[in-house]
Amino acid sequence: MKIPKVTKRLCPYCKKHTEHKVEVAKAKTRSSTRPLSRYSRSRTNARGLTKGMGNKGKYSMPPIKKRKMMNKKLSKKIDLRYQCQVCKKMSQKSHGFRAKKFELV
Ligand SMILES: [Zn+2]
Repeated sequence: MKIPKVTKRLCPYCKKHTEHKVEVAKAKTRSSTRPLSRYSRSRTNARGLTKGMGNKGKYSMPPIKKRKMMNKKLSKKIDLRYQCQVCKKMSQKSHGFRAKKFELV
């Protein structure tokens, strides 16, 4: 899918149609978005739960490459961000979409 780098869309801050620069939002990892959530690494480390009983679900399954259901979805979700060229504020599209290939033209 090809999408132009600059588009005209409604700016929620200026409340009129202005030129917007398009950016792809980087995917964040779970630990960076919610560093102190339940079962996060830093919290389990603090409670001393990293060592102990069980194998942490590691060796009960075959390796990922041998599992049948892996790699079924070949496309990835893409989130777009728009920066208004007048007020320089960013706004995000409400939902991402799937595409195998993505390119900003
Ligand atoms: Zn604006």
